[in-house]
Amino acid sequence: MKYLDEFSDPELAKRLLERIRATTDRRWAIMEVCGGQTHSIIRHGIDQLLPDRIEMIHGPGCPVCVTPLEVIDKALEIAARPGVIFCSFGDMLRVPGSKKDLFRVKSEGGDVRVVYSPLDALELARANPDRQVVFFGIGFETTAPANAMTVYQARRLGIENFSLLVSHVLVPPAIAAIMESPQCRVQAFLLAGHVCSVMGTQEYPPLAQRYEVPMVVTGFEPLDILEGIRRTVAQLESGRHEVENAYPRAVSEEGNPAAKAMLADVFEVTDRAWRGIGVIPDSGWRLSPRYRDYDAEYRFSVGDLRTAESAVCRSGEVLQGLIKPHECAAFGTQCTPRNPLGATMVSSEGACAAYYLYRRLDQPAEVAHA
Ligand code: SF4
Repeated sequence: MKYLDEFSDPELAKRLLERIRATTDRRWAIMEVCGGQTHSIIRHGIDQLLPDRIEMIHGPGCPVCVTPLEVIDKALEIAARPGVIFCSFGDMLRVPGSKKDLFRVKSEGGDVRVVYSPLDALELARANPDRQVVFFGIGFETTAPANAMTVYQARRLGIENFSLLVSHVLVPPAIAAIMESPQCRVQAFLLAGHVCSVMGTQEYPPLAQRYEVPMVVTGFEPLDILEGIRRTVAQLESGRHEVENAYPRAVSEEGNPAAKAMLADVFEVTDRAWRGIGVIPDSGWRLSPRYRDYDAEYRFSVGDLRTAESAVCRSGEVLQGLIKPHECAAFGTQCTPRNPLGATMVSSEGACAAYYLYRRLDQPAEVAHA
């Protein structure tokens, strides 16, 4: 792990922090739109080491957290049907739907399986031709290429008992929606390095210009994040609003052309609902007409479900950066990772889970040991 250790070097971190302190004159609010970066910021206490004048706002960057309740309920309904093998990454199993989660469906007899790749689900379909195998394909631009490739392979190989329940979301429209909100306090963005490694950086300069916000492509290790913040603050203090790449070891301007070509073939842009935020126009992907036969929503006819969000969960405000997790009254009391009321407490990338895991002293004493 020498390579990653180099990006956690405490001496270099101190030097970067000194440079950030020396540059910071005014108050700034910077949003990261990536659950992995949120987790790293909280885990390493980066937000506490920064000058008081810099506030890190945690945006809607956790893919599990932003998957809308309606899609979770559709997953639950499909997974409960006889003859279905429902496959998902493990972090979706405890995300609460309106009445239950996938674990409950499994305990009630549904064939719900954790897989480590969508291709594992395709293999299950090939091995079980008399069953319908569904993969729960969620996430940002990062996870979409593997899901697109799996559907492409299903069609190429003639595997007809495979389908994808898809709820992919896109970062640039979410940034536009955040900036258009009347409550917006965000003055700059750390862009997610893994998203940009797929899509490149070309979508972002028009946003930086339109909203006059600096945007810095940033990685995930402590030094990556500090360097992203340093460059962001330097732009803010000098009145610039440009797109910079502070993660060149993984990100190029054009991204990954092969992945982008696969995405363009298999998916088409659509309006998407974001959990806790609502519908954002043109903010997601669905299967294109050529691949519609592989769309689980069509195959299982699960439209127009009635959903019911938890009355106490404020994850929508957390996801928009309007409150910090511990400002929710249920944090650490009614809502814990063991008994989550919202997706932001379930997912390892969720802001509520990160605050619970790494900020135990912020909780009342009696729950810190729960
Ligand atoms: S602490 Fe729990 S109830 Fe409160 S916003 Fe987070 S997930 Fe929702």
